[in-house]
Amino acid sequence: MAMKLEAARLMVYHAAARAERGEKNLGFISSASKCFASDIAMEVTTDAVQLFGGAGYPRDFPVERMMRDAKITQIYEGTNQIQRMVMARALLK
Ligand SMILES: Cc1cc2nc3c(=O)[nH]c(=O)nc-3n(C[C@H](O)[C@H](O)[C@H](O)COP(=O)(O)OP(=O)(O)OC[C@H]3O[C@@H](n4cnc5c(N)ncnc54)[C@H](O)[C@@H]3O)c2cc1C
Repeated sequence: MAMKLEAARLMVYHAAARAERGEKNLGFISSASKCFASDIAMEVTTDAVQLFGGAGYPRDFPVERMMRDAKITQIYEGTNQIQRMVMARALLK
């Protein structure tokens, strides 16, 4: 889980650094970092809920909220299905 988080964090920082430098054509890396980081967040929080077993499901522990919050990051700001189309278009241009 820590390994995946580190990879996702680096990709987001890489995209942000490129944007800060004023680089052009950031469509692919923006979509890739949003999609990858939110997919990793979903995987990691799902595993975190699993670690708690049945106790991970009710609202007693913050991990349930973290999993729901991870889910919405896959959906809003352009769903990850749409991000995949954006990336494919950028690659095929
Ligand atoms: C909590 C929350 C906050 C939000 N805040 C904002 C905001 O501040 N500003 C704003 O503008 N919007 C906001 N939204 C809207 C958000 O951007 C939309 O939910 C998002 O664009 C997805 O649209 P939809 O929910 O209508 O899903 P739909 O477009 O109906 O899609 C349903 C599902 O089908 C998939 N899908 C759709 N079309 C395709 C396709 N062509 N190929 C493959 N899969 C496809 C989608 O990926 C999704 O999984 C927010 C939504 C939520 C839930």
